[in-house]
Amino acid sequence: MELAQWLHTQVDEDERIVQAASWADEANAWHAAPSPYDTWGKDERWYVEDAMEEGLVTHVDPKASDDEGVARHIAEWDPARVLREIDAKRQLLALHRPVQQRSTGSGGGTIEDCQVCGHFPAQYPCVTLRLLALPYADRPGYREEWRP
Ligand SMILES: [Zn+2]
Repeated sequence: MELAQWLHTQVDEDERIVQAASWADEANAWHAAPSPYDTWGKDERWYVEDAMEEGLVTHVDPKASDDEGVARHIAEWDPARVLREIDAKRQLLALHRPVQQRSTGSGGGTIEDCQVCGHFPAQYPCVTLRLLALPYADRPGYREEWRP
């Protein structure tokens, strides 16, 4: 599988995951706050709530991390943010498409280059796509040759 196709698959997987965590478009913005729920002996507990004020994670209780930090991290990566990231990645994939360039080498012929980046010598996938793929390097199918 080529990098651009593989990257489309990873972004589709991100979308599948975020849709499973979302129950309504208008609820996709989440926020973290000190919990109004039972603190179970702690001075302060944190929770994550969606935009429709439905408690999603009623007690953020990491064993080795700061409760507030973990709660704020979960809220920062809410479905609204992830969907914006997915949209931006799809737009980048649409922009950084391959085009055929005439080879300047002795063998002649044509080689692929990115229609936006225009490397010399021609290179596809371009650095932008290689960098976009980097956060997914731990997923099956990633090839080390794609690493920028
Ligand atoms: Zn490019």
